[in-house]
Amino acid sequence: MNKIAGIKQVISEVVSLLFKSDEKRTIDQALQLLLDFFELDWVYVTILEPGQRSAHFLYEMTSDHVTGRKDVDPFLPYDTIPWMINKLLSGEDIILDNIENLPAEASVDGMLFKEQGLQSLLIIPLTFKGTVGGFMGFDSIRTQRHWSHLEVEDLHIIANIFSVIIERQCNQLLAREEKRRSELALQKAREADILKSAFIASMSHEIRTPLNAIVGFSSIIAETEEIEERRHYQKVVEKNNDMLLQIISDILDFSQIESGELPYEYMDFNLREICHEINYKYTSRSQSGVPFFFHRERHPDIVLYTDGNRIKQVITNLVMNAYKFTTEGSIVLSYRIVDNDYVRISVSDTGIGIPPEHHDDIFERFVKVDSFSQGTGLGLPICKTIVETLHGQMGLNSLPGKGSTFWFTLPLKPR
Ligand code: ADP
Repeated sequence: MNKIAGIKQVISEVVSLLFKSDEKRTIDQALQLLLDFFELDWVYVTILEPGQRSAHFLYEMTSDHVTGRKDVDPFLPYDTIPWMINKLLSGEDIILDNIENLPAEASVDGMLFKEQGLQSLLIIPLTFKGTVGGFMGFDSIRTQRHWSHLEVEDLHIIANIFSVIIERQCNQLLAREEKRRSELALQKAREADILKSAFIASMSHEIRTPLNAIVGFSSIIAETEEIEERRHYQKVVEKNNDMLLQIISDILDFSQIESGELPYEYMDFNLREICHEINYKYTSRSQSGVPFFFHRERHPDIVLYTDGNRIKQVITNLVMNAYKFTTEGSIVLSYRIVDNDYVRISVSDTGIGIPPEHHDDIFERFVKVDSFSQGTGLGLPICKTIVETLHGQMGLNSLPGKGSTFWFTLPLKPR
């Protein structure tokens, strides 16, 4: 077989392999054929990653004369081949029978070529949708080789097929990614829908319970003459009023947090006064048999520039939770300065406590340790969001059966 017929035959074998499959095994086989036939040492296909300013080797085949290539970084930075990249990007081939004939402006590229021991090379740009997006290279290390016009033309056919293969793979990848994204969006929408239904069902239940109590006991109060009995019913109504108000304000806050519209109003406020106010509210109403303590005289005056009403809301929420889950012992509100940097406020109770496996997830929305307990499961996530927005942190220490301490921090200096 003469040389031309030989070239035609190997090119047609490579073409039929590439048309058969774009699996890596088949592509490697095709590259091996080219490597052997043209007695090359390195045949490779890259795509350009302009964002990373480097070329990424997708496929490559080397002869035994190239050692250590497998450990080499698959990314070739543009900085190491500036002349070559410029030429390729303008759509030109690089044909060098003898590396010594590199033009002077290719000195940086020449250093890399010499380091790799290259003698000759042929590099053809790969175009995707009319733009150069990669290149295919045919390098010799053992010998200098002359690239004939016919060989270059035939190898262009192979390079064009690679352009098509890579473009198709990219499209498939994009389609797969698009499908994955839309499946994820659908799943999220379904989850949101389920969550919304669960939320509405649970809210309706949570609202109806105190409302029924308020309606029922209000009419009983009107018919009751005995003063002690009336007072008792009045306390029940008051307690349920609080609960209902809390639920409704949680729902409002929650929807504002979700839409990023929860308003914050910054002002100077005295932490000691707020704690004292809360103390007064709970001790004067004596919500249950459990005593509540805030020792005003033991705490320093601290003036913070933050949203005082939101801080009051967080502390009140923690105190109400403490009441909900404590039947004996006490509830204590306190704070202390840490590292001259921030204040740590805590509400401790001697209630039922929280198992360690729930210490993180109770700060997630709708989570309740006991699904039958009263409440929306929104209180703690709202508190945490508020505290974090005001540049603090929130956490808890708790032991089942022993009690809980919910704490949060606030910076002493405004941020
Ligand atoms: P809710 O607004 O329904 O009270 P939270 O987010 O405030 O919801 O609380 C979520 C859950 O965390 C409660 O249902 C309860 O299981 C647990 N929890 C909160 N505070 C305490 C506490 N002081 N003692 C024991 N469990 C608590």
